[in-house]
Amino acid sequence: MEFDVVIVGGGPSGLSAAIKLKQLASAADKEVSVCLIEKGSEVGSHILSGAVLEPRSLNELLPDWRELNAPLDTPVTEDKFMFLTKNNGFRLPTPKSMKNHGNFIISLGNFCRWLGQQAESLGVEIYPGFSASEILYTDSGAVKGVVTGDMGVDKYGNPTDAFMPGMELHAKQTIFAEGCRGHLTKSLFERFNLRDGKDPQTYAIGIKELWDIEPNKARPGLAWHSIGWPLKSDTYGGSFLYHLNSNQVAVGYVVGLDYDNPHLSPFEEFQRFKNHPAVRETFLGGRRVAYGARALNEGGFQSVPKLTFPGGCLIGCTAGFLNVPKIKGTHTAMKSGMLASEAIFENLNSKSEEVDSYESKLKSSWLWKELHTVRNIRPGFSRGLWFGLANAAIDTYLLFGKAPWTFHHKPDHESLKRAKDSPKIEYPKPDGIVSFDRNSSVYLSGTNHEENQPCHLTLKDDSVPIEHNLALYDAPEQRYCPAGVYEIISEDGQSPRLQINAQNCVHCKTCDIKDPSQNIIWKSPEGGGGPNYPNM
Ligand SMILES: Cc1cc2nc3c(=O)[nH]c(=O)nc-3n(C[C@H](O)[C@H](O)[C@H](O)COP(=O)(O)OP(=O)(O)OC[C@H]3O[C@@H](n4cnc5c(N)ncnc54)[C@H](O)[C@@H]3O)c2cc1C
Ligand code: SF4
Repeated sequence: MEFDVVIVGGGPSGLSAAIKLKQLASAADKEVSVCLIEKGSEVGSHILSGAVLEPRSLNELLPDWRELNAPLDTPVTEDKFMFLTKNNGFRLPTPKSMKNHGNFIISLGNFCRWLGQQAESLGVEIYPGFSASEILYTDSGAVKGVVTGDMGVDKYGNPTDAFMPGMELHAKQTIFAEGCRGHLTKSLFERFNLRDGKDPQTYAIGIKELWDIEPNKARPGLAWHSIGWPLKSDTYGGSFLYHLNSNQVAVGYVVGLDYDNPHLSPFEEFQRFKNHPAVRETFLGGRRVAYGARALNEGGFQSVPKLTFPGGCLIGCTAGFLNVPKIKGTHTAMKSGMLASEAIFENLNSKSEEVDSYESKLKSSWLWKELHTVRNIRPGFSRGLWFGLANAAIDTYLLFGKAPWTFHHKPDHESLKRAKDSPKIEYPKPDGIVSFDRNSSVYLSGTNHEENQPCHLTLKDDSVPIEHNLALYDAPEQRYCPAGVYEIISEDGQSPRLQINAQNCVHCKTCDIKDPSQNIIWKSPEGGGGPNYPNM
């Protein structure tokens, strides 16, 4: 199928790019065909975020969003920033970057569903349930589109009765909007050397639950964040509790993937966090209704790769535009999509295959300035919480983000120390009231993969999990995976082996990032598989 533009991914960046293209085409009275594919069973079903939305980009893209019934119905009314010790909580002044006056607490999944409707009403062809599995190239090496994955292939790679071959989608320009750690984007980095001269991208894992709480505990509009317990001061991370309308609370925990103790489990840290005296009370008498996890970018300004290449470009979190001190990447993802579309629209009839003007537009936009100003804050925390806080205060309030230096990053997969040199961590058993185990959690993510399909979690070398990861790091994949996909099985008298329960995978991409020898490769499974998040 031939289109002017193909967009891979139906998150805020991809959908904003699609809407912008159609708006520009309509204003110029031109026809531009735009196709967007999304690996989730519907737009929004693979979206997991906090989320507090800064509406800056939305105001630019669809200024009449109120009349269009955008699902932004909980304005932030109060910010609380807490430091937790094991038994106490102390309120700290809210950092400038975390003040949310004028922002909205939303379900990003529902916001994307709504953006999808706006895009369709403008004529964008949206195909949910299809993942782009490979990139197609012209003879001269430019991207000419993508191919969607074959459906109905058994686990040995043979076609079944339900076999449906993948579709080739060709375009003048292909926009990659895969979100954090896009797997096609990874291959583009290599093919076009897009990361040359840039810092490595760094990441965190965010684990989230949605709760129905007792109405007398609801504080719609409260955005509550904490740092400190249960993490030690050498590990970056913290929590959020966002009180939505309708007696719901979105609660989540974010852990920087540069942690060094292989015994650490982000999932268990989150579960024990909910038992803190300042937190537990909110959930007593309530009901957990959804669970999920997703990686997020933390590299910021210095990790943004080259964004264009012949035949395509990168937008949103697959490029890495998240503003870490704000814990917000939606407004920047949307803005990058809009700028890419402006540049592509202006160049659709040009002979040049690479739309360099996207990068120049981006660099003269508020987005670039915003990321540049905060570039030294997250790396300061790699020296621990106290240095990080002091550095953040000096950088924000004395230097105004204009320090003449830029701190650099190391790749997250290099940070683990040996298990024998790291303190073991004893996690409490879940109480089944506010804390839970992985299996019951994954159940609430609605995750489903056709079991008889090739495993989408592949190993470069089958011997590494036991001979390297287990031997040196006590198999950390058992702990960093929030869905219990990786298990070391030691049957009587047999050597231990790694079992991969790929059907549980919630597509967070943490294994692809944190595996110490980069041996695990996440590939897109059959389209439509994965989590089915309701309103995450
Ligand atoms: C726990 C957590 C809390 C956060 N809190 C906030 C917050 O409060 N405020 C805020 O502004 N931001 C927040 N963020 C960040 C925000 O969610 C992201 O910045 C934003 O979602 C990025 O948008 P995107 O379109 O680039 O990617 P995504 O939202 O990740 O969307 C990418 C889409 O592409 C699809 N896709 C990927 N690969 C393929 C493929 N090969 N084929 C087809 N489809 C594909 C995915 O299924 C997905 O639907 C948070 C993130 C996390 C994880
Ligand atoms: S297998 Fe990997 S991508 Fe899937 S849930 Fe586990 S860590 Fe995340």
